[in-house]
Amino acid sequence: MERERSMEAVKETVDQSLREMRETFASGRTRSVKWRKAQLGAIIEMVKDNEEKMSDVLFQDLGKHSTEAFRDELGFVMRSATTALNCLDKWVVPRKSNLPLLFYPATGKVISEPYGTVLVLSSWNFPISLSLDPMIGAIAAGNTVLLKASELSPNASALLAKLIPSYLDTKAIKVIEGGPDVATILLQHQWDKIFFTGSPKIGKIIMAAAAEHLTPVTLELGGKCPTIIDHHSVSKDMKSVVKRISGGKWGSCSGQACISVDYVLVEQSFASTLIDMFKPVIRSFFGENPKESGCLAKIVTKKHFQRLSRLLNDPRVKASIVYGGSMDEEKLYVEPTILLDPPLDSEIMNEEIFGPILPIITLRDIQESIGFIKSKPKPLAIYAFTKDENLKTRILSETSSGSVTFNDLMIQYMCDALPFGGVGQSGIGRYHGKYSFECFSHEKAIMEGSLAMDLEARYPPWNNFKLNF
Ligand code: NAD
Repeated sequence: MERERSMEAVKETVDQSLREMRETFASGRTRSVKWRKAQLGAIIEMVKDNEEKMSDVLFQDLGKHSTEAFRDELGFVMRSATTALNCLDKWVVPRKSNLPLLFYPATGKVISEPYGTVLVLSSWNFPISLSLDPMIGAIAAGNTVLLKASELSPNASALLAKLIPSYLDTKAIKVIEGGPDVATILLQHQWDKIFFTGSPKIGKIIMAAAAEHLTPVTLELGGKCPTIIDHHSVSKDMKSVVKRISGGKWGSCSGQACISVDYVLVEQSFASTLIDMFKPVIRSFFGENPKESGCLAKIVTKKHFQRLSRLLNDPRVKASIVYGGSMDEEKLYVEPTILLDPPLDSEIMNEEIFGPILPIITLRDIQESIGFIKSKPKPLAIYAFTKDENLKTRILSETSSGSVTFNDLMIQYMCDALPFGGVGQSGIGRYHGKYSFECFSHEKAIMEGSLAMDLEARYPPWNNFKLNF
């Protein structure tokens, strides 16, 4: 009864919020560049003013160290808003199009038009950046926007719900808290665009709901991101390779990141050397007792902890542990763990790991990595440590993924100039930098014809003249 009453209250809030956002959009206020810039500036100010509070909630929800929180979330958001603020004047300029000479003196251009009222649903692993970054794009493009952050990072969600109304235009930008039942209510309404960050499973629910109203969607999903190590060509740099992979796997939300390394592909002959190289790096990052290091994020919830525990406790997988493997449910802690050749039909090799466990899969020849990756759903990112141009060309031309990064990890996410998004199972659409502006804009074709001349061949009666535009 209590729950029904509160869902009724949510429905009313959603109805009223949508009404207000639509009215605001219709008033034209959000289309003005001045308004957009003011909101973007306010986002920067909000993060600056509340850096400590934001850092605190990221620690409460995820055990993130403040340095990690700043690098991956607060600093990232401020940079993203600053880019939008600095580039907006350029982005909004209509683009001239070259029309066929035959239409002279007609002219053509493309203008970016805001969709209207957009819905942003975000995930818990980077709860501040994955909420505010899409909002930055939506605002830059001139939309009104409603955010629902994840219920699994409740402190971050509550802080955003408190701060956003005190910094941003409350008639245009709204936040609602809640989990799947609130998301379900939101999805019953018609939106002009839905931007979702989360799992492929829920992505399908979002897309099905959007299809009801033919609403365009951007789905930022996940998957298993492979990392190829071609040890022959990077043998001199192996220390850096191992450090980068360790940083990517364990140094960003304990592997609970969509672009984290999911597994490594390496030649069998090099596997034991590689494992021996990982061990001191992990110790240098987290000391002898990573649980107490304060530098390793915790597993977000008991449910996710139990999921990881189930994956690891499959006896065949357990037998493949070559480093780590300890767990503490009370502290939601999973030790940085390395597996050597877990069975390829095990769950851990078929679902996104999203945790600090790194399987190393061995191959006879590193060229086989191409076929291995192609046999799986298209990942969000492929990483390859190689200087072999032939292998690079094969990766680029024979595989498909949201992105490919050679000789580094995860930093592609930080580069505004690159589009960020998946393909196939890993997502639909892209954002970041100018791509965020485009993600939330409809590109409207404008043609200005001329009545000065007319071409009789356009009209019946038809003769045998073949008009070729
Ligand atoms: P999730 O799909 O469980 O939840 C995401 C959002 O969907 C949350 O706001 C949640 O409240 C909502 N939701 C949950 N159940 C719903 C339902 N039945 N109907 C409607 N909405 C519902 O994902 P998650 O656990 O928060 O995040 C982990 C996943 O997200 C991983 O697969 C990861 O790879 C992916 N991810 C992708 C990116 C990216 O940028 N591509 C970034 C972070 C995470």
